[in-house]
Amino acid sequence: MKFKIKTSGHHDFIDITGDVKRIAEESGIKDGIVSIFVTGSTAAVTIMEYEKGIIKDFIDVLEKIAPEGADYEHHKKWNDHNGAAHIKSVLIGTDLVVPIESGRLQLGVWQQIVLIDFDEKPREREIIVRIISSI
Ligand code: ZN
Repeated sequence: MKFKIKTSGHHDFIDITGDVKRIAEESGIKDGIVSIFVTGSTAAVTIMEYEKGIIKDFIDVLEKIAPEGADYEHHKKWNDHNGAAHIKSVLIGTDLVVPIESGRLQLGVWQQIVLIDFDEKPREREIIVRIISSI
């Protein structure tokens, strides 16, 4: 199962919990795992509390590690300027696994599944969701 999301780049945080939950519930699988993968090396998926204070704090931390305006070796390769976005994608990762029990994603109340787009321009991201049933 796949779905697409339009993003604005530059640390765009989008809550995709509802989309993943719908796909998991429609599968009818009671116990197993759901994997979530974003295609692209300047995006990431993670689990966090989707709250604007945390989002801002997290961006501040990431900007200390890989600031958007800095110079990166990667820019020489393609003459683009999204080196920081690639590094953030590597650090956070482009895939997740969430357990399903009794037909429900086992997320805590304050755990949302979040797509983050770090790129320097708007993109359309493809999210691939796979559900595997336990034996
Ligand atoms: Zn690049």
